[in-house]
Amino acid sequence: MVCFCFLVDQKSVVRRSKPVAGTCSRCRHGALVADMQTATRFCYIPFYWKSWKAIVCSFCGSILKSYNT
Ligand SMILES: [Zn+2]
Repeated sequence: MVCFCFLVDQKSVVRRSKPVAGTCSRCRHGALVADMQTATRFCYIPFYWKSWKAIVCSFCGSILKSYNT
């Protein structure tokens, strides 16, 4: 039996964050500026890493604004 393994996914993690002026448009909690890192994985093995900055909500985690670096 042949096992097809075309499982590509992306996983984002927050490397560091600090409070920034601004509030979340959804829940009105404070915003954070975060250094994000996204790993693109193939069969759960990361093969590509991308670092980027984003303004995220400290409470619900929604991304309010993102910057490509
Ligand atoms: Zn929020």
